[in-house]
Formats: sequence, C-alpha cells, structure tokens
Amino acid sequence: MLDEITQRKVAVIGGGAAGMMAAATAAEYGAAVTLYERNDRFGKKLRITGKGRCNVTNDCNMEEFLANVPRNPRFLYAALSAFSTEDTKAHFEALGVPLKTERGRRVFPVSDKAADIVSAMERYCRDLGVNMVNRRVTGLSIEDGCARGVRVGQMTEEYDAVIVCTGGRSYPLTGSDGDGYRFAQQAGHTLIPLRPSLVPIVCAGNACSRMQGLSLKNVTLRMVDTKNGKTVYEEFGEMMFTHFGITGPLVLSASAHVPDLAPGRYEAQIDLKPALDEKTLHDRILSDFAKEINKNFENALDALLPRKMIPLVIEASGIDPYKKVHSITREERGALVQTLKCFRVNPTGFRPIDEAIITSGGVSVKEVSPKTMESKLVSGLYFAGEILDVDAYTGGYNLQIAFSTARLAGMHAAE
Ligand SMILES: Cc1cc2nc3c(=O)[nH]c(=O)nc-3n(C[C@H](O)[C@H](O)[C@H](O)COP(=O)(O)OP(=O)(O)OC[C@H]3O[C@@H](n4cnc5c(N)ncnc54)[C@H](O)[C@@H]3O)c2cc1C
Repeated sequence: MLDEITQRKVAVIGGGAAGMMAAATAAEYGAAVTLYERNDRFGKKLRITGKGRCNVTNDCNMEEFLANVPRNPRFLYAALSAFSTEDTKAHFEALGVPLKTERGRRVFPVSDKAADIVSAMERYCRDLGVNMVNRRVTGLSIEDGCARGVRVGQMTEEYDAVIVCTGGRSYPLTGSDGDGYRFAQQAGHTLIPLRPSLVPIVCAGNACSRMQGLSLKNVTLRMVDTKNGKTVYEEFGEMMFTHFGITGPLVLSASAHVPDLAPGRYEAQIDLKPALDEKTLHDRILSDFAKEINKNFENALDALLPRKMIPLVIEASGIDPYKKVHSITREERGALVQTLKCFRVNPTGFRPIDEAIITSGGVSVKEVSPKTMESKLVSGLYFAGEILDVDAYTGGYNLQIAFSTARLAGMHAAE
C-alpha cells in the first residue's frame, strides 16, 4: 500500500486515446490519478476511428514507422522504443481484445468494433483506480515554473503533475476543439500553426461536382508538383468525387504529402486503368470499338467507364462526342488512352480543419523532452497525443503516436 502522503497526484486532461493511456500508466506506476473528460463519454473520437473499426496500430518496425511520420519523426524515437507497435498489440490482447492484421499491416480488433477498444481502455483505467471525471478543464495552475494543478470551473484542483492530452482541432464535435493549445500557450509554449492533414481536397471548376457521388475503385492517384513535374505522391486504391472536389482514402493520404497546397501548385492525375499499359489499353479500346462501329463515340464508352465520367473524359480527350466510332482516328484513340491514363483535376486547397482526420502543427516539440514528454518550460507539465506537433499518414500510426507518447508521459509524471 502506497503511503498517501508520498503518492504523487497526477491530473490528465482529455479522455481520448492518449489521455486514457496516460492516466492508466501513471496509476500503474503508483500515482493517484484523476482523468478529466469534458464529454459525458470517454473516447468519443476513438469510437469513430477507422470508420468505426479502429485501426489501432500498424504492424511495422521502427524504421518503417518513422517513414510514415512526415512531421518530426525523430522526436518519437524514445516514445516508440518505450512503447512499440508490438507493445500496443500485446496491450490490447492482454486487455481481452483480439486483434487482426489487414492489408498494409493495419491492425484492427477482430470484432471490427472501435467500441471494444474504448471499453478496454476504460476498464484498464478503472481497474487501476483512475478517478474518471466528466468535467471540462478550463485552465492550468502554474506557479514558479511548476505545474500545480488544473482549473475546473471556478476552482483550482491541486496536483503534482498535469498531462495535457486534449487532442487536435479536427472533428470538434468529438470534444477536441483546441482547449489544450490555449493551456500550452498559457504555459509559454510555442504553437506551430495548425493545419488540416488527412483532409479532403477542393478542386477548381465544376468537373468534380458533375461527378458528385462517384466512387472510383482500383485507380492510381498521383500528385504532381507543377513547379518541377515531380510526382510527390502515387498510390493505388479508392477515391471519390464530391460537390467540392475529391475525397476518399487515396485523397486523404495524398493531402498529407502536399502541405503547401495552393491553387496551381499541384496537379492531381488519376490513372483510371492502372492495370493496363498504354498499348494494352489501346488494343482494348480497339476491340471495344469494333463491337460499336456505328455508334456515336459518346455511346461507345459504357464498358470502359462509369456513366458519370463519360462526358468529362470525352471533353478532356477533345474528341467530338457525336463522331461515329468507325471514323475515330488512331491519333484520337491515342488521346483517349492519354486521358484514361492521366485524368487531370486541379486542386485549389484543403477542406477546413474541422473535416480533417488529423491536425498538423501544435505544441512545438523543441520545447518538450522526447524522453519524458515533460515541458522544458514548466516542470511537472506533460503533453501527449495529437496536441504535439507530430502527425503521420493513415494506417494506424496516429493512434500509435498517441499511445506511445502517453505511455512515456504517464510513466514520468508518476515518478
Ligand atoms: C474520423 C477519424 C478517423 C480516424 N481513424 C484513425 C484510425 O483508424 N487510426 C489512427 O491511427 N488514427 C485515426 N484517427 C486519428 C486519431 O483519432 C487521433 O490521432 C487520436 O484520437 C488522437 O488522440 P488524442 O488522445 O491525442 O486526442 P483525442 O482522441 O481527440 O482525445 C482528446 C480528448 O480530450 C478531450 N478534451 C478536450 N479539451 C478538454 C478539456 N478542456 N477538458 C477535458 N477534456 C477535454 C476531448 O473531449 C477528447 O475526448 C482518426 C481521426 C478521425 C477524426
């Protein structure tokens, strides 16, 4: 039994992925922990992760992991060493949530239910005696460069250490609407400007809105830097057209590779037939056209393209839609092949941060110890999770970052 007088009192602000991990860890290491969550439920965002299935981590090694972190990967080295992707898997299995690994080494609960992850985390906290409180923290109490407690309503509640796990600024209805950034600034921390990442992309013109609702499977999306013609992103998968532009898994991933997206800066190129090289595609078109020789061009593309796309592909190819198929020239077929292999849309910007999966930017990692997650400016103050200026691509990396940084913060806050 720990002596109550020597037992450290730790407050954790935010009952999401990082907060629950930090709270349970600090309790495991002997602290008396109170976890504050402003919502009436814990893990509200966690419940909607991975389309409700929760891609809890990625089954990869350190090097591969860090290659998927575009912002400040080196900062995570100690955290990932202390609590690795293997540890995350073992952790949830031990909490009674069997896991499975899918394409791209994405790890999910076998049940496909994010709620199972949340229940396991809540149970983990309660079993370790964490005091789980559904209240909003309104500020920090800092005296002489030390964290002394948290403000809740008009009251100051005293603690020996405070861990801020309030998340980012995206999907604010889940509770993460930016309080923590205010707390960090109050403590004197520098905030790296916030920016949406893993976010839908707005495109110029009305091409996308004309194809609104159309989902493309098995296509390749390329993002090409118009300054130097370099491809900065290329991936095979699924995407969708909307009234404002493009979205879907490929597009969200692409957005993280083009942080400086501005009108004209990048071109999005869609290979609609990535499985066929140009010659094979040309032959395929020829054989399709042989069955439709007396039809107008516009009526001869049904086997090749989804209906909503046909008028736009025709416009891009420059071929007269009313031309009879038998009189289409070899050059025109070549133009059609080019259009199918490289259908262009012009991104002009991102959708707002509210619609982003991830907030990029946040508490500058220069002012946080990577070995403990403690503030270098205020002793006893810790940060973990999305509030930090680290973010990753899709694939379970972001939750792993939350768990690893929280684990370190919890261990050291309890010391
Ligand atoms: C739709 C969607 C799907 C996603 N899918 C995945 C996925 O499958 N895999 C993956 O790795 N990542 C995924 N992510 C990203 C992942 O959810 C986040 O990286 C992760 O939740 C960050 O954890 P966190 O604990 O830092 O923040 P959060 O999970 O946002 O938790 C912060 C908590 O703090 C609380 N809070 C805020 N302010 C206060 C306050 N003043 N007082 C008390 N409580 C407060 C909030 O209510 C919230 O519960 C997804 C994100 C979204 C939006």
